[in-house]
Amino acid sequence: MQLIYIGNRFKYQTEAVMKLFLPAQKFSFVYMTPEEQKNGLTIPAEDEMAEFCLSSDGDGITVSVNVRYDGRTERESVTLPLGSDDEVCEFVMSKLLYLCMSRLTGITSEWGILTGVRPVKQVHRAMKSGLDREGAIKLLKEKFLVSDSKCAIACDTAEVQKPILSRLEKSGGKTFGLYVSIPFCPTRCSYCSFISQSAQGQSVKRLIPPYIENLCDEIRRTGEITASLGMLPDTVYFGGGTPTTLSAEQLARIMRTVAESFDLSLVTEYTIEAGRPDTVTAEKLAAIKENGCTRISVNPQTLNDDVLRAIGRSHTAQQFFDSFELARKSGFTSINTDIIAGLPTDTPESFRATIDGLIRLSPESITVHTLSIKRSSNLNSSDEKQTFMKSPASFMVDHATERLYESGYKPYYMYRQKNMIDNLENIGWVKPGHESLYNIYIMEEVQTIIAVGAAASTKLVDTAGGRMERIFNFKYPVDYNSRFGTVIKRKEEIKDFYAQKK
Ligand code: SF4
Repeated sequence: MQLIYIGNRFKYQTEAVMKLFLPAQKFSFVYMTPEEQKNGLTIPAEDEMAEFCLSSDGDGITVSVNVRYDGRTERESVTLPLGSDDEVCEFVMSKLLYLCMSRLTGITSEWGILTGVRPVKQVHRAMKSGLDREGAIKLLKEKFLVSDSKCAIACDTAEVQKPILSRLEKSGGKTFGLYVSIPFCPTRCSYCSFISQSAQGQSVKRLIPPYIENLCDEIRRTGEITASLGMLPDTVYFGGGTPTTLSAEQLARIMRTVAESFDLSLVTEYTIEAGRPDTVTAEKLAAIKENGCTRISVNPQTLNDDVLRAIGRSHTAQQFFDSFELARKSGFTSINTDIIAGLPTDTPESFRATIDGLIRLSPESITVHTLSIKRSSNLNSSDEKQTFMKSPASFMVDHATERLYESGYKPYYMYRQKNMIDNLENIGWVKPGHESLYNIYIMEEVQTIIAVGAAASTKLVDTAGGRMERIFNFKYPVDYNSRFGTVIKRKEEIKDFYAQKK
């Protein structure tokens, strides 16, 4: 499909809105000035196209959208006051496109034209500007065309976060979250889009010992830098991959290095992902608990063995139950469990059984993810005409929402990714009092996250100055090991960032 821009280059948002309706469509882009159009510049006509026009005269700026799709045409046009900036014009253009495409396809998206990763930020922004809950809902509905149920869940999430964020604000910006990346898994799940390597093969197994050596060096150097800046971690998070792919001794060694390198006196939350139940042993749980871990995540993704087989997870639902019980017996009082709505071969009935089975176990938090289309075999089709529809994933998410609210869980953080089925979202649900600070801070971008290890990305946040910078480590352990000197050198950028602040 051809997207033609006349007098503007507002590709970013308009393409994102187009993808809400036509996720598998390939677009070509044409740009021209109004003069070129007047002078009769012709574009090879395609049957399906959208034309985005921005023009101005003495009366104002006219934004118009004209879409031809599936043999029909829809148009929308608005005149804005002279002086309206590009951001406003692009936003209005996206909204007009949304209206045209909704009429042409008969589809509406629950998040309307809100295509960003962090919808709750909009609520915080609205509330900071003086709006109450009703005002924030009105804004989400009228400005972004968000549905009633998504408005309610975004506001509930913001309300859970509010006291936690205001405590952080009062702490004065001297704390950070420490992220330790262990990008290895026992085997690779078929839907995985993370940088994680299966530790099955000999070549990857050989990478692990030098990886741990380097990781410990990076932890030590990072500890020196943060200490010199007077910064202390208040959360620690081991993610991946699956950190518990490593042995008990390897995990203990990394955790000891963290404890020796940082002052952990402010740390109230120390999470280790033990995502794959097939990696969980009593020995590892004892080792991580002994070294300060307070929270773990054991993830079934589904409690249906057929679905687990279909997605290439090499464990059963029973293994998940056994690991969960082992974690409880090992004394873990804060356990998260992840599940995914929309997995290939899963059905609303089997998803219901999964959510009900988890609620019976009563973990402190349950994170409900939605599969993203690029990872979904049944939706990753070459049919460019394919549009979003209310798919089983939407019913699954609706059911999870209803059951989790009924069972006393509250939504406490939320994010969205590109190409999610039905333009849905990922939501962390929690029993009050067990909110993971790390998850809230990282999603709302309110605290510096200092990250170590392959595929780790440090995010430096200066909330007062409105600055944010990232430092990326090499993605793959092989590059991380072979170019470790560069990794260490880049860590100096942390100092540069805070020096600028002063
Ligand atoms: S456990 Fe997670 S990170 Fe590891 S392969 Fe599976 S989806 Fe990817």
